Amino acid sequence: MSCCSLSNEALKNLNGKMNFFSDLLQFAINRLSKVTVILLLLGAFGIPGNANAQNTSSPYQVPEISGTPLQELKIALDVGHSLASVGATSATGRGEYEYNAETTRTIAGILKAAGAEVVIINADGMMKNLYERGPTARQSGADCFISIHHDSVNNKYLDTWTYQGRELSFSDRFRGYSVFASTKNMAPKSSRTLALNVGKALYETGMRPTLHHNEPIQGENRPLIDKRYGVYEFTDLVVLKTSPMPAILLECGVIVHREEEQLVRKKEYQEMIGKALVVALSESMKSGAISTGDKKGIFSKQKPLFPFFRPKSDSTSTTSTSEQSPEKPEEKKNEPGVLNRLFKD
Ligand SMILES: [Zn+2]
Repeated sequence: MSCCSLSNEALKNLNGKMNFFSDLLQFAINRLSKVTVILLLLGAFGIPGNANAQNTSSPYQVPEISGTPLQELKIALDVGHSLASVGATSATGRGEYEYNAETTRTIAGILKAAGAEVVIINADGMMKNLYERGPTARQSGADCFISIHHDSVNNKYLDTWTYQGRELSFSDRFRGYSVFASTKNMAPKSSRTLALNVGKALYETGMRPTLHHNEPIQGENRPLIDKRYGVYEFTDLVVLKTSPMPAILLECGVIVHREEEQLVRKKEYQEMIGKALVVALSESMKSGAISTGDKKGIFSKQKPLFPFFRPKSDSTSTTSTSEQSPEKPEEKKNEPGVLNRLFKD
């Protein structure tokens, strides 16, 4: 046999080498297993300290803001509604105004951290006249105007439930954000661009819009500018058409939806919206849709207010009480529902 032709010495050497390679292989397998286990653990729980790592427990990708991209930008944040007229009532019976005020404060903190100057319109909840808000923002020298709201649905979708002994209305049918712009705004293209950038930035966090304002029913029927990003045209929204600067209205979530109401209460959710706004405003500055310190243009901070931004005196705005004159006409034109809540203050 050919193998028997090897000497005993040669066989010993061969066995020794084979044992060595076998041990080496075993060692490598052990190490590999440990590395594999570590990699699997890191994949499952995220890499500590890496802010970009996907958090498997959250469906959201919160934008990371570095530096101060909003340097020199002055933003007017409008707290929707007022103490006297709180807007929509949430599923747990809380007034929309409280959500608007809380979220606005959180967003303001995020925008300031990104380098912006922020002026809050209706900070004390005492501003009842919607027609004052845009002009007040202009007087403060703001470059753009963002009205913060929380949403409801048409009355026909509301059911009742008992919460803490109170019978309240809710609807779990629609949830999500909406962004509105008006072609009657003095800067309709810039407003539209800002609205699209905001819708896109929110979408990219993983948030999704609600499309119920597009339903062809009285009180809704708002044309969609962008269905994917939840951006609507809302021509006669008072705070948008009377703001002498790029302006949008943001519905942060649907508070008659029982789960979404709990979500919008969370500071992390509010901060995520703030960071998405930083991204959107930064994009709008880069594209020129929003300019800072435009002293010579139509948005000049030096110019006086335009007289036609005062409340109109025609039949569409004089038939109501002095307290709520701006929005009463729309209430008369439409059935109760979300449209009224958007107008109501
Ligand atoms: Zn509202």
